[in-house]
Amino acid sequence: MFEKILIANRGEIALRILRACRELGVKTVAVHSEADADAKYVRLADESVCIGPPPSAHSYLNVPAIISAAEVTDAEAIHPGYGFLSENADFAERVEKSGFVFIGPRPDTIRMMGDKVSAKIAMQKAGVPVVPGVEGSLPDDPQEIIRIARSIGYPVIIKAAGGGGGRGMRVVYTEAALLNAVSTTRGEAGAAFGNPTVYMEKYLENPRHIEVQVLADEHRNAVSLGTRDCSMQRRHQKIIEEAPAPGLTPREMTRIGDRCAEACRKIGYRGAGTFEFLYEKGEFFFIEMNTRVQVEHPVTEMITGIDIVQMQLRIAAGEKMPFRQRDIEFRGHSIECRINAEHPFKFTPSPGRITSWHVPGGPGIRVDSHVFANYLVPPYYDSLIGKLIAYGDTREQAFARMRIALSEMVVEGILTNLPLHQELMADREFIRGGTNIHYLEQKLAQAGRVD
Ligand code: ADP
Repeated sequence: MFEKILIANRGEIALRILRACRELGVKTVAVHSEADADAKYVRLADESVCIGPPPSAHSYLNVPAIISAAEVTDAEAIHPGYGFLSENADFAERVEKSGFVFIGPRPDTIRMMGDKVSAKIAMQKAGVPVVPGVEGSLPDDPQEIIRIARSIGYPVIIKAAGGGGGRGMRVVYTEAALLNAVSTTRGEAGAAFGNPTVYMEKYLENPRHIEVQVLADEHRNAVSLGTRDCSMQRRHQKIIEEAPAPGLTPREMTRIGDRCAEACRKIGYRGAGTFEFLYEKGEFFFIEMNTRVQVEHPVTEMITGIDIVQMQLRIAAGEKMPFRQRDIEFRGHSIECRINAEHPFKFTPSPGRITSWHVPGGPGIRVDSHVFANYLVPPYYDSLIGKLIAYGDTREQAFARMRIALSEMVVEGILTNLPLHQELMADREFIRGGTNIHYLEQKLAQAGRVD
């Protein structure tokens, strides 16, 4: 195991990684922007280095500053967390070339998965079911584009190969709108992602978002840690996640899990990763792979008893995973509510000073948060201030515990989305299970709460 690693992130995930390190006896270096100098994990870390002014471009995305922080502190490895540089293949490469271990997949794997066209082709080859469409990027020839759309059947979706964060996509219902949509998406993709390549696939109208967590070591052992349902989204941003995905048969889950683990072996995947699928009428369709730890990883930890972040470190250190697929047992149900500093129904950010902060507890409750009373939520970063996670023997028990936890949670001084979570946890359809990715937006629209 490493002696010391650098955590190239902030907020709750920096604290989460720090906790994993402490349990493993690994020393930590926290890097932070000027805005995060007083953060809890910065104080808890063995060492800390300020890497720049508040804007991420000058700090958390500042590759030379991060590498030199690792150099001056003698860190052996760098954990990128999620967001920021976590899926940046050039960063992973720089880290390795500078003589450090990147705690994540190999740079070429990140690169392949970062391009949605090459990811989809690779996954299809590796036996993972993908959204129907054509392999590869769209040609320039308008007639050819029209032909492809006809062969897929409307509605279709035009997606940027380099897209991310729910941006760079356009749904097309009619041939009349097709060519315009392609050129607009191309223009946007070029401007936003520096890559105008777009592709086309079938637009699934009412899918659920179901994903599969995997772990793979460098000794050809790859396992699936089961499914998560993250269909409760707004503008493609997840707000509630649960594991396992409700309503699926054990056979369905094993089948898709095994396919993902097998794909990991085929592509020589290393580390933790997530296969994201749209799920409709009993079928899974791959949309993308995330080559990093995810915000929602705790719900999987709760039902498997496996510490995913510790496994990331152990795999990066070259260790063999201490279990095989048959050793992994799924027990109970877990749900996570993302607590955001934002208006609960208008979704406008609400940074500022938290004057009071009381977190819930009791059986089956976990709170992952870097926040404390008197903490100042900086305006520069995303609005996630913590995650409430509930576990129960059954889905009903997990939900009941979450309702109690939400009622105990007090955050004052800023606005949070706690009221939205309380409404959703009392929502009949959601409680029944299996609501699709449009459910939240439709519910907000019906209540006249569209911004
Ligand atoms: P990103 O990397 O930007 O998150 P994804 O490919 O994961 O992009 O897609 C994000 C979201 O867009 C999905 O969760 C889903 O809501 C919607 N989406 C993407 N592709 C399709 C599709 N073929 N049919 C229906 N919805 C889609």
